[in-house]
Amino acid sequence: MRLFVALDLPQEVKVRLAAMAGGIPGVRWVPPENYHLTLRFIGEVPGHMAEEVDLALAHIRAKPFELSLAGLGTFEKGGRVQSLHVVAERTPGLAHLQAKIETALQRAGLPPERKKFAPHVTIARTDGAALPKLAGFVQAHNLFRTEPLTVEHFVLFSSRLGKEQAVYTPEVEYALAA
Ligand code: ATP
Ligand code: MG
Repeated sequence: MRLFVALDLPQEVKVRLAAMAGGIPGVRWVPPENYHLTLRFIGEVPGHMAEEVDLALAHIRAKPFELSLAGLGTFEKGGRVQSLHVVAERTPGLAHLQAKIETALQRAGLPPERKKFAPHVTIARTDGAALPKLAGFVQAHNLFRTEPLTVEHFVLFSSRLGKEQAVYTPEVEYALAA
């Protein structure tokens, strides 16, 4: 199974993100049902490891926290803009949960994540984008922000890669409690 740990987003936030999408030729917009904030990408693991992952995540104790999305950003690789995202504020509560997940998954036997945590919600894959249009989009929408939303659970998703879009399935939800 291909797995990742993420925050799901409230429907009203998905609706606002979807309303912003559009207007850049050559990009692939993420379908609204696929919006999420990745806390930890796990990748392909055998069934027994998926069980270890679930056990490790189920033992995490963390409190609900506030999350705000504010502004847009892009990720680049080899001089190409690969994706467009909405930035999530790196609040203490979010950083704390991410760190707990990282520790738990390493204890369960996964290799450490090397990349620094940069919380974001991808809204488009931009490999084929017209760059001036992309820059214009970022400028036009850079004031996007959400009211703080309370995060009360995190989710283990499985991912099936398709020709068009990946299909994500929520496998297990883990509650945060005060
Ligand atoms: P596709 O790969 O077909 O574009 P996808 O990226 O939406 O689809 P996955 O590759 O399964 O689907 O990724 C699931 C989530 O994990 C996405 O948020 C993705 O950005 C993130 N992710 C994927 N690979 C990595 C990685 N190597 N490091 C960190 N995060 C990753
Ligand atoms: Mg991918």
